[in-house]
Amino acid sequence: MNKQTVVGGIRPTNKLHIGNYLGALKQFVAISNDNQITSYFFIVDLHSLTTPFEPKELKTNILDAAATYLAAGFNPKNSNLFIQSHIPEHAELAWIFNCITPLGELERMTQFKEKSQQHATNINAGLLSYPVLMAADILIYKPNGVSVGEDQVQHVELSRVIARKFNNKFGNTFPEPQTYIRKPLRIMSLTDPTKKMSKTGDEALNMDDEPKEIARKLKKAVTASEPGKKSPGEENLMFLLNHFGSEESVRHFTEAQNSGKLKYFELKETLAQNISDYFAEFREKKKELLSKPDYLAQVLGDGARKARETAHKTITEVKQKIGLL
Ligand code: ATP
Ligand code: MG
Repeated sequence: MNKQTVVGGIRPTNKLHIGNYLGALKQFVAISNDNQITSYFFIVDLHSLTTPFEPKELKTNILDAAATYLAAGFNPKNSNLFIQSHIPEHAELAWIFNCITPLGELERMTQFKEKSQQHATNINAGLLSYPVLMAADILIYKPNGVSVGEDQVQHVELSRVIARKFNNKFGNTFPEPQTYIRKPLRIMSLTDPTKKMSKTGDEALNMDDEPKEIARKLKKAVTASEPGKKSPGEENLMFLLNHFGSEESVRHFTEAQNSGKLKYFELKETLAQNISDYFAEFREKKKELLSKPDYLAQVLGDGARKARETAHKTITEVKQKIGLL
């Protein structure tokens, strides 16, 4: 039986937060350690250019992301970890896809609507065509699955639409990939729990935050609700407790919640402790990795070399099919 192929990526727009971890990175780590799967995971730096950025910070964030993947247990020996822009074939394929993607498909994307509201003074063409580049990132490796969080499912659907359009026009080339999500979940912002936690949104709880910082951010977490409605902030904190808390604390706070005796300050303190403990080893490993930039560069270079072989094959096939070669 052929091995399955799975791809995934995260934008280096800032440090990775616990939503990125639970929704995406945790699954990337599991896949990278599965020798029944061929996988390609990238730091999607070209996508970072669609929202406001500082060149110096971008460079730091790229290495930070690589250290984050590895410190979380990503296995670069069994998987390919690389920086998207190191494989120019992604952008090349994106241009070709741009020319077969109907504008209307892009305008209806939820993330485009959200992000163009958020960055109303910088609605650039890249923000609109972001999902086309994402379709190229995915399809260039002809995968069966795309490992994403729930908020990216619509973009994966678009990559299927693009694959279908290309295949119909130029002959069968791309498989239609499925989303590969073990458990769909969405971590909400601590300060506005009606929105998802984002690297570029309100202050997020980062994976490498020091214990004091975790406690400070959780202390500020909004738990208020409208009369007669469940508190979305409380739900979010309880959800996090379920993932990071000990069995005993989950039992204790679930009972308190069910009997209407939940004390928010107590829940926040316990959760802060649990999250600090959960990421203690990760924090140490990440510091160590950041002190070895040569090692990080070597891992990313090896990953890029292997990925480029596949990407080059696909782009050559595409160029032949559309008459460029
Ligand atoms: P940005 O603000 O730059 O878009 P982001 O936090 O949305 O940052 P992305 O790089 O867009 O992060 O997404 C990386 C992965 O993390 C995707 O698979 C996405 O679905 C997942 N993800 C992002 N935010 C959350 C969240 N709050 N809960 C669960 N998964 C998430
Ligand atoms: Mg995002």
